[in-house]
Amino acid sequence: AKAAGRDRIAAFDDRDRHSSVLALQTANDLRRALATDEIVPYFQPITDLQTGDITSYEVLVRWLHPEQGLLGPGKFLPTAEANGMMGEIGERMLRDALAQLARWRVADHAAGRAAISVNLAAQQLSDPNFVAVVDDALATSGIEADSLWFEITETALLTDVGVATTALRELRGLGVHLSVDDFGTGYSSLTYLKKFPVEAIKVDKSFVDGLGIEVDDSSIVDAVVRLGHSLGLSVIAEGVETPLQLRMLRELGADKVQGYLFGRPMPARLVGQSTFAEH
Ligand code: C2E
Ligand code: CA
Ligand code: CA
Ligand code: CA
Repeated sequence: AKAAGRDRIAAFDDRDRHSSVLALQTANDLRRALATDEIVPYFQPITDLQTGDITSYEVLVRWLHPEQGLLGPGKFLPTAEANGMMGEIGERMLRDALAQLARWRVADHAAGRAAISVNLAAQQLSDPNFVAVVDDALATSGIEADSLWFEITETALLTDVGVATTALRELRGLGVHLSVDDFGTGYSSLTYLKKFPVEAIKVDKSFVDGLGIEVDDSSIVDAVVRLGHSLGLSVIAEGVETPLQLRMLRELGADKVQGYLFGRPMPARLVGQSTFAEH
């Protein structure tokens, strides 16, 4: 369990390895931040390779810290996790993102046609109230379940397979969609893929990085795309940064792409305003 905890913390932290222990926030700071609305969702586009349309936005948590500026999840999710606060943060992201989607629709903003994709923590999946919370969040926002995706890592799925399977079936029963996050980095991917009612897999950035450069990475992505398609799943590539990676992903038949090449995570007010690279 200790090793698993360390793995999860490393996963949050893998994009800012230089964050020191000193930068870790205390649980009390985090509680205050939640109460004062400093914890906000950022949105990153996920683009369909066939149509070029943005089909969804991944919701990524940020802390607008009054003294330290913009903090990424690596700086505070380990504290949240250690203090049992992932459920609270996750529920905030879910409700805020659904409310934002509703505002985009009222304003007839193009982003209102997309879905939102929310990261789900293991602590949420094992909460017996979680499905009711999702149901209530949808009803409160007026957004239909079809416009909501949850991204779940293999690690979260494997924490308690029985509990996870039940929760995921109930979520699917509501009509929300499920994807497996960071695909290929966990264990038993293939065995468990069959068990869970998922509709998409997100190929981890670590495999996308070497596309067109490392033969192994191209073979792995090729295999993941084929596997996903043969199981009837849609395949999303994350961390796409270069035109070469994009070209390879097209050739290999990936369905959707997400990465800095298409847009960085951004606050709601900037969604739809950035200039996208031409392809
Ligand atoms: P993730 O779910 O794998 O999210 C993708 C991460 O890759 C995000 O980092 C995103 O900003 C980053 N990214 C996207 N495109 C690119 C790219 O082209 N290049 C590079 N270098 N990075 C890219 P972020 O926002 O720092 O989030 C890190 C992790 O924190 C997420 O990984 C996820 O595991 C966790 N996380 C973020 N928000 C939430 C949340 O609301 N709830 C939960 N449970 N976890 C969250
Ligand atoms: Ca994710
Ligand atoms: Ca991911
Ligand atoms: Ca990750």
